[in-house]
Amino acid sequence: MPRLRLTTGQRGYGPEHQKLRKRLLPYAYGTPCPRCGKTMEVGQQLHLGHSDDRRSYTGMEHAECNLKAAVDMRRNAGKPRVHVDTKVQATRKTLRVNVDDL
Ligand SMILES: [Zn+2]
Repeated sequence: MPRLRLTTGQRGYGPEHQKLRKRLLPYAYGTPCPRCGKTMEVGQQLHLGHSDDRRSYTGMEHAECNLKAAVDMRRNAGKPRVHVDTKVQATRKTLRVNVDDL
């Protein structure tokens, strides 16, 4: 079966995306990556990230982080989204430890 191949524009990487990326790139260096929080350094490959629904941009991010997010999103496609509140989880863990200690 032939595989459908989308153009760069259809995938959200058209001339406007490339122009915006080029404009934002110099300002991204020295700021934290929105995906991993580590500083984006000169010499690192940076991508202009899309939101998960691809309707907006998340800003500049490490290319590695951007590609990992894309893989994770494809892997999770169709699965229900689960929001994990780490504060609640930490509290429950603490409570469980306390109960076990009794
Ligand atoms: Zn990153």
